[in-house]
Amino acid sequence: MTNRKTIVIGGGVIGLCAAWRLLERGVETVVIDSAAPGGNNGSRENAGMIVPSHFVPLAAPGMMAKGLRWLLDRESPFAIRVRPDPALARWGWLFHRHSTEAHVRSAASLLRDLHFESRRMFVALAEEGEDFGLAKRGLLMLCKSARGLQDEEEIARMADGLDVRAEVLDTDAVARLDPDITMDVAGGVHYPDDCHLNPARLLDRLRERVLRLGGEIRHDAVVDELARDGSGWLREVRGYGFSESGTHFVIAGGFRSGRLLRSLGLRLPMQPGKGYSLTVPDPPQLPRLCSILTEAKVAVTPVGGALRFAGTMEIGAGDDRANPARLRGIVRSAGGYFPEIKTACFDGLKPWVGHRPVTPDGLPYLGRAPRDENLVIATGHAMMGLSLGPVTGDIVASLVTGTPPVRDVGALDPARFSRTKAKAKAKAGRAAE
Ligand SMILES: Cc1cc2nc3c(=O)[nH]c(=O)nc-3n(C[C@H](O)[C@H](O)[C@H](O)COP(=O)(O)OP(=O)(O)OC[C@H]3O[C@@H](n4cnc5c(N)ncnc54)[C@H](O)[C@@H]3O)c2cc1C
Repeated sequence: MTNRKTIVIGGGVIGLCAAWRLLERGVETVVIDSAAPGGNNGSRENAGMIVPSHFVPLAAPGMMAKGLRWLLDRESPFAIRVRPDPALARWGWLFHRHSTEAHVRSAASLLRDLHFESRRMFVALAEEGEDFGLAKRGLLMLCKSARGLQDEEEIARMADGLDVRAEVLDTDAVARLDPDITMDVAGGVHYPDDCHLNPARLLDRLRERVLRLGGEIRHDAVVDELARDGSGWLREVRGYGFSESGTHFVIAGGFRSGRLLRSLGLRLPMQPGKGYSLTVPDPPQLPRLCSILTEAKVAVTPVGGALRFAGTMEIGAGDDRANPARLRGIVRSAGGYFPEIKTACFDGLKPWVGHRPVTPDGLPYLGRAPRDENLVIATGHAMMGLSLGPVTGDIVASLVTGTPPVRDVGALDPARFSRTKAKAKAKAGRAAE
């Protein structure tokens, strides 16, 4: 062990991956998580997809217009919990500003590299004998309409330019890929390098691995405060009835990270993005491949013998209530693309509710805190937290141990929206003119 001791706040996929990679580098590590062992978080029953195909960030051209149209439909996959809140207004403004071609171009190769590196680490983990249901069969972007297929073809062309393998398929070619499944689609795009897995099993395997490597995990413990010593260094975390000191700290609390960050004077724009999944235990047909129902924005994943449908993004909703209209929207679209999956398949199912930590530019926050050298921030992964888990954990370990990360992640600097930084950037731009 090194003489470093790292306290990781949060035991979701990001916190556990950080602990795994830190321990592998010989760093003493304690994970503190507010949930019970196996308890819920934003990772547990998500769609389980590893997605090199997702190189377009959420903030992209056309998203604002699409989102506004969806606001009028109660069953649509998107909603904003509108309220008079300056933080939400700023988040919306920044999202708007980043929904540009230039932003997509600058983010795409970074996201591609991070997803592929993460995929490599998932495969290595499975080859070491960890069973978390990894299936390397690719992902199908399924389109019901010719217009939807045209949009996906455009992304497939972009994939081609980025060396991400993508194959555009007509109705018959889609059927040949999964011949036992009845699908009512105009076509789709197959991304053969994408994968799927069982997220609950992954979390359990990561937890066991962390313990096996000598890490400690404290459950049912909420961190309320990060405390500094006399010289201003972060030294300790505190919660009700406990404290733990360390040399380094990692905030990986998912959508709840904001509260702790604010206590340190950091206001990172981030909103919860509530979503749901419904898992049909014994479906009449079980696809081999995972898919995304593109017009409906629903993800479909075989999880063992069950079939999971996941979707909906309710921005600004941090509560655990499931909205019946949005769930109806998921059920309706399932039957629209897979006619054998009838509404009755969903009768009596309990929806899972999870929250994505969503940044306004669709990129995670990953890097050292602006004022605290010994604090790493690793959150804001929105729809990609599972896919980017291992590579994020590895970069956290590099930042803690002071070694170069697998990929330069300056673009993910947690301070990128800070007003002083923005002013300095503008000044530098003016000076260069
Ligand atoms: C419907 C849906 C489907 C999705 N599908 C996919 C997918 O297919 N692929 C993909 O890559 N991503 C997917 N995602 C996104 C992914 O689930 C998230 O990006 C990911 O879960 C974020 O992980 P996290 O570790 O940051 O947060 P979480 O999993 O929420 O973990 C944070 C943990 O921190 C703990 N915590 C918070 N504050 C404190 C505190 N003060 N003290 C102690 N503990 C604290 C919480 O209890 C929690 O356990 C999906 C999300 C949803 C909602």
